[in-house]
Amino acid sequence: METYDIVICGGGLVGTSLALSLAHLPLTICLIDPVAAPPPRHKDDRTFTLAQGSKRALTSLGVWSRLPENSFHPINEIEVSDRTGGFGLTHIRAHELGLDALGFVTENAALLAALYGALKETSVVIRAGRFASLEVRANAAVVTMSGTDGPTQLSGRLLVGADGTDSAVRAALAIPVTRHAYGREALVVNCQVTAPKPQTAFERFTPEGPLAALPLGDDRYTFVMSSTHAQDWQDLPEPQFLARLEQAFGQRLGHFRACGRRLRFPLIRQKAPHPAAVRAVLVGNAAHTLHPVAGQGFNLGLRDIASLADTIAETCRRQEDFGSRTVLDRYLAGRAHDVASTTEFTDGLVRIFSNKIGPLVVARNLALTLVDCLPSVKRALAVRTMGLKAPLPSLLRGLRP
Ligand SMILES: Cc1cc2nc3c(=O)[nH]c(=O)nc-3n(C[C@H](O)[C@H](O)[C@H](O)COP(=O)(O)OP(=O)(O)OC[C@H]3O[C@@H](n4cnc5c(N)ncnc54)[C@H](O)[C@@H]3O)c2cc1C
Repeated sequence: METYDIVICGGGLVGTSLALSLAHLPLTICLIDPVAAPPPRHKDDRTFTLAQGSKRALTSLGVWSRLPENSFHPINEIEVSDRTGGFGLTHIRAHELGLDALGFVTENAALLAALYGALKETSVVIRAGRFASLEVRANAAVVTMSGTDGPTQLSGRLLVGADGTDSAVRAALAIPVTRHAYGREALVVNCQVTAPKPQTAFERFTPEGPLAALPLGDDRYTFVMSSTHAQDWQDLPEPQFLARLEQAFGQRLGHFRACGRRLRFPLIRQKAPHPAAVRAVLVGNAAHTLHPVAGQGFNLGLRDIASLADTIAETCRRQEDFGSRTVLDRYLAGRAHDVASTTEFTDGLVRIFSNKIGPLVVARNLALTLVDCLPSVKRALAVRTMGLKAPLPSLLRGLRP
C-alpha cells in the first residue's frame, strides 16, 4: 500500500488547484485522475469566466503567469439586458467601480495545462487511475484505485473528493445530495462576429432562456445558451444555426460568421448539505454544482480549496489531525455562508429571468433599470460575482496558506 498524508481524487480544475495550494507544506500528497493530464488545446475549446478573486488565487499559485498571452481575455464591461419584450438594460463597467477588469475569460485547456505544468515542479505524486472503492479506518482513508497496472491501494490521513458532479467518492461515503434538474441544457459554442465590442461581455435574457456572450479577443465570442431545445440547436446546419443565434442575441455584435463545435451540458443544481465524513471531504462540483448562468461554479470551487488549504495549513502548524471530524466541520462551517449565498444568487437569477409571468417581467426590467441608476447596487452585485467578499482566505488575498 502507498501511504500519503492527503489523497486527492479528481484532477480537474479544482483538484489540481488544491494539490498545488498544499504543495509547499510538509505533507505527502497524491493526486489521482483517470486522465491525469490536460487535454490538448486544439481539442478543448471550452472557456470559463474567472472572477478577480480567482485570478488573484491563481497568481498566488504561480499559475496565472504560465498562461499563454492569448488564452485569457479581460472583461471590462458587462451589458445585461432583457430581450423578452422588456425595457431593462444595465451596464456594469470596471472603471466605474475602480477596477482594472470585472473578470477574465480563460481557456479551459490552457488553464489546466498551466495547473499541471506547475504541479509537475512540486513533490505532488500524480497517478493515472480511477477511484474504485474506499475503506475508512480510524487513522486513514484507504482508497483502491484502478489503473492500467490493475488495482492499487493508497492510504491518506485525509481523502479529498474533487471528482466532479457524479462523484464516486461521494457515493462511496454515502453522502446524500439534493438535486434539481432545470429541464434545460446549456449549448456552448465559439463564434466569429462582424462587429466585436472589445472586452465586453453580454448577458441576455431571451424567450429561449439566458444567453451569455463572452469575449475571446479579436472577433471571437463564446456563446452559452440555456435552452429546452438544445438538441435542435445543435442539429441545425451551420448557416441556419448562426441565423437563429443572431436572431436570439440581436445585432449588438453585427452578423455571426462562423462557429466551432456545439457542445451540450445538462443544467442542474446539486448540493451535498454536509460534504464531509470522517477522514474525507468533498470540494468543487463533487460538493455543489451550479447553473452556469453567472459563471460561478469553478470560482466557488476555488474558494472551497483556498479555505481548505488554510484549514490544513493551520492544523499542521498546531500539529492537529486535519482528517478529524472536528477540523473538517470547522472548515465546512466557514464555507457554509458562501456556498449557500452563491447557490441562492445563481438559482434566483435563473428563476427570475426564466419566468414569463407579466408582472415579473415588468419587475425584472425595473430591477435592471434600478441597478443601472444606483452605483451602490452595482458595486454590491460586482463584489458578489467577483469573489471578493470578506472574509477572504489567504490565496484570495494573494498569499500562500
Ligand atoms: C456550460 C458550462 C459553463 C460554465 N462556465 C463557468 C464559468 O464561466 N465560470 C465558472 O467559474 N464555472 C463555470 N462552469 C462550472 C465549472 O465547469 C465547474 O464548476 C468546474 O469545472 C468544476 O471543477 P471540478 O474540478 O470540481 O470538477 P470537474 O471539472 O468535473 O473535474 C472532475 C475531475 O475528476 C475526475 N474523475 C471523475 N471520476 C473520477 C474517479 N472515479 N476517480 C478519479 N478521478 C475522477 C475527472 O477526470 C475530472 O478530471 C461552467 C459549467 C458549464 C456546464
